[in-house]
Amino acid sequence: MAKSEQKTITIIGAGYVGLPTAALFAYVGHKVYVLDVNEKRLAAIRKGKSFFYEQGLDPIVSETVTSKRLIPTNSYEQSVPASDIIFSCVGTPDNPDGSSNLSYVFGAAESALKLMRDGAIYVQKSTVPVGTGREIIDLFENHGRPSLAYLSNPEFLREGTALSDSLFFDRIVVGGENAAAINAVMDLYKSVEARRLKIAEVAGIKPEKRSGSYIKTNLDSAELIKVTANAFLALKISFANSIARLADVTGADITEVMDAVGADRRIGRAFLNAGRGYGGGCFPKDVSGLISSAAEHGVDLAIMTAATEVNESMPGYIANKAQEALGDELEGKKVAVLGLAFKAGTSDARRSPGVKLANILDHSGARVTAYDPEANDEAQEDLRKGIRICGSLEEAVKATDAVFITTDWAEFVNIDLEKLRKSMSGNVLIDSVNSCSPDEVSKAGLYYVGVGR
Ligand code: ADP
Repeated sequence: MAKSEQKTITIIGAGYVGLPTAALFAYVGHKVYVLDVNEKRLAAIRKGKSFFYEQGLDPIVSETVTSKRLIPTNSYEQSVPASDIIFSCVGTPDNPDGSSNLSYVFGAAESALKLMRDGAIYVQKSTVPVGTGREIIDLFENHGRPSLAYLSNPEFLREGTALSDSLFFDRIVVGGENAAAINAVMDLYKSVEARRLKIAEVAGIKPEKRSGSYIKTNLDSAELIKVTANAFLALKISFANSIARLADVTGADITEVMDAVGADRRIGRAFLNAGRGYGGGCFPKDVSGLISSAAEHGVDLAIMTAATEVNESMPGYIANKAQEALGDELEGKKVAVLGLAFKAGTSDARRSPGVKLANILDHSGARVTAYDPEANDEAQEDLRKGIRICGSLEEAVKATDAVFITTDWAEFVNIDLEKLRKSMSGNVLIDSVNSCSPDEVSKAGLYYVGVGR
């Protein structure tokens, strides 16, 4: 990279978004401070490791920390004054009423604004309600810093495929009023795109041909794009689950239905899988944040309230189906829950449907064992005390009456059905991600329960 193209960057927040972003910018030659207040996370990064499991991330973090282009720090004074561009990647958890908690977003902006050099660019990557950027611009002006550029650059990467999504993106969106600042941020992403094949090789990620677009918008549009995209995906999932309930009481198979419906190019097959619903650190809070920010502007997003209700009902709905299959009794039954991560490919167990289902089963008096290849530790504090976490699939399913597949890890959806049948005492397999073949499950002597099939 030519010296003139090399930027000094601070990424505030070394989380699921901040760390992959920081590591990629550092890998292509920028000097990147990754700033966090969480010493545990910083300690892991200093050792050249991520604090969470993400495919391909460790080699990139390791290389960039060793070469000192990625600099973990807890100091705003060390990082911000030296930086051309500052990214805010702090969390925006939801408040008990569903609205977004913006205390970290404003906390980071307030700490940074006093230290930023004139002409520096502040880029919001945290997911914030539309209108937040204007408030931060006001904050800059009220502190006598009108020369700072403020942009919104929403993040679309998915946990579990963070690097692949960043390298082979559909679109990069940057919104704001300052054209030169927008171009500077676009150039950063272009510097990563230019080396993406090399990075994919080092990270062990399959290269793709996709060429994404660079989209410039106004500030409010950029803020709204992110939550709207997630809300629409959540809507698709809840829509599929609503139709699955109808399929359950008729002769239809939801998978056949959605395969054919999704073959319509106007609709698309993605996110039409019925099952235990969505969870994780984004969809639930992005949807509730959108509902509440719309309400603040006097707009009733009833469609998203309905999507949320459907989603919240799914683990209980599946527990009821299991109860029917178990002779109308859960009390005293031995059941295994396979999958505590909110989806495959991550150790993240925030708002995990598998955890929710395990808790419902425990609450109903079942004796629950649980296992996840990556998320056992992260799920622990959210699981009810009675649930026994196991170190292996074999241990979890031993002598059970029913087994629930709740995350579509390859280890679970490709499970050896004959072996499973032999190690169980009962024969009920609840496929709450609709990933097994009902025929094969039956052939192995197991009783199949899916969602909408
Ligand atoms: P995401 O999934 O959006 O990346 P995370 O919660 O995983 O969110 O990460 C956000 C990170 O931001 C956390 O590690 C947290 O410690 C850090 N953070 C929050 N507020 C600040 C702040 N004011 N300064 C620096 N880091 C912060």
